Amino acid sequence: MQFQFRYTSGLWLFMISAIIILFLLIFSWRYRKSPSGRCFIILMICAFLWVFNFVFETAAVSLAWKLFFARIQFIGITFIPAIWFFLVREFTNRRVLGDNWFVVLIIPILTNLIIWSNPLHHWFMGNPFIISSTPFPVVDFDYQWWFYTIHAPYGYLLVASALILLIRSIPNMSGVYRIQSRYLLVAILLPAVTDILYVVGISPVQHYNFTTAVFSISGLILFYSLFHFQFLDLLPLARDSIINNLYDGVIILDHKDRIVEINPSAKQYLSLEDSAIGKAFIQINNEIIKKIQVLIEENIEKMDIKIGKQAPVYFDVRVNNITKKNNAHIGRVIAFRDITERVELFNQVQALAVQDSLTGIFNRRSFMEFSKREIYRVLRNPGYAVSLVMIDLDNFKAINDQFGHPVGDKALVAFTATIQKQLREFDIFGRVGGEEFAILLADTDVETAVHITERLRAAVEALRIQADKKREVSITASFGVVSSMQLRKKDIEIDSMLDLADRALYKAKQKGRNQVVLVKL
Ligand code: GH3
Ligand code: MG
Ligand code: MG
Repeated sequence: MQFQFRYTSGLWLFMISAIIILFLLIFSWRYRKSPSGRCFIILMICAFLWVFNFVFETAAVSLAWKLFFARIQFIGITFIPAIWFFLVREFTNRRVLGDNWFVVLIIPILTNLIIWSNPLHHWFMGNPFIISSTPFPVVDFDYQWWFYTIHAPYGYLLVASALILLIRSIPNMSGVYRIQSRYLLVAILLPAVTDILYVVGISPVQHYNFTTAVFSISGLILFYSLFHFQFLDLLPLARDSIINNLYDGVIILDHKDRIVEINPSAKQYLSLEDSAIGKAFIQINNEIIKKIQVLIEENIEKMDIKIGKQAPVYFDVRVNNITKKNNAHIGRVIAFRDITERVELFNQVQALAVQDSLTGIFNRRSFMEFSKREIYRVLRNPGYAVSLVMIDLDNFKAINDQFGHPVGDKALVAFTATIQKQLREFDIFGRVGGEEFAILLADTDVETAVHITERLRAAVEALRIQADKKREVSITASFGVVSSMQLRKKDIEIDSMLDLADRALYKAKQKGRNQVVLVKL
């Protein structure tokens, strides 16, 4: 069978289409690793098989050769609807059919087997005949039952499913995906409508399916929408279904730090609109973004930032750079989370660890800790002196017994406030026992210490506490004092000083309470 072919006037249209598709195939080859890229490449291979063989079918002279090229075209034709479906499935990230996606391919595979074995059963097509009345001498067939009841309806069903899937996903899409989905919609509709028009008999040239020519336009639209934005490589990371529902704010930047995506949480935190998409990140005037910008500039991956002064809000910010295998920078994912509650809780816990919960002054442990540091200064600076005062309330049991525990507590709070008022900011005041207190008077010599303590005693004595509506309670306390000036170097440390002050306090109790006693060595 000799192969002869003849140029006909309409051939150039399809040749151009074939060349465009071939170029798209070559350009998109580098995206073969991404799922959408792979679908696009397979789609272009199918389209190329179709249009390339269509050119040969038209050009071939003999019927046998025309038939041969027509059959190869069907390989492309039968798989295209399935590939549309897969492409939309990838694009929308709807896992329709899950791992059983391949069942979609069963009918196209069967159809191809039936086409190649057609001479045996004529299920697909009957007598081929050459249309010579047009400028395009192609073969046409009397299509048979498999074509009408299986192949064609199945193809339309798949394309319709893809369209429905796409249209239903559009409302949930944001940013660039919404724009891309519109292109995708047009790219699918264009050949589908052309094909339907051909099937119902509306075609510029009878018996001539222009879908092949239109397909290159679809390919160009698709190529533009998928690859031009360079967002395709980010797609797997930017899956809307995950990001949209995140409590974390997520912003995705492209390689030029333009905003590609902002999820709903981020929009809320930053009071941003969809209109921010496409803008440069630095252009956006926002306190949080300004601080995140610093992280990006200094290449810091994770940091807590504080926003505002009164009632500050804290964010835990992470910046992840997205790079390709060759280390080319293609974008960033910025994720941030409001951690204000956690920070506040942490601060509270920290405060609880140093504070006495009833009176708000230092607890025993922190009193010891801070006093140690202050006493240590004495050892480093000769001439610097501190004094320690131990206090125990007098006959406090009696107050509890007479007025009840809550009144006792109230008295403790009032007592603390009274003492605190008399102290200087750098003195250290702590509750070291139930109704036992200690004061480390910083930068205070013996005489001053006794003087101050006497003033404290008088203030406590003068204090009146409202026990209930009618009764007032007064309290007194006993004070033991020791000064670093009285001590040898080895005794200038917190435990010895507490012990000595306690001894003086015991003396004060013995002497009849409500008095100040300086330790005698
Ligand atoms: P003294 O003059 O000898 O110190 O007599 P006192 O009754 O104060 O005796 P002591 O210091 O041994 O008694 C401590 C009492 O203080 C016992 C307890 O009922 C009371 N107390 C201790 N912690 C608290 C507290 O947090 N709240 C109240 N309301 N009472 C407390
Ligand atoms: Mg007491
Ligand atoms: Mg006591």
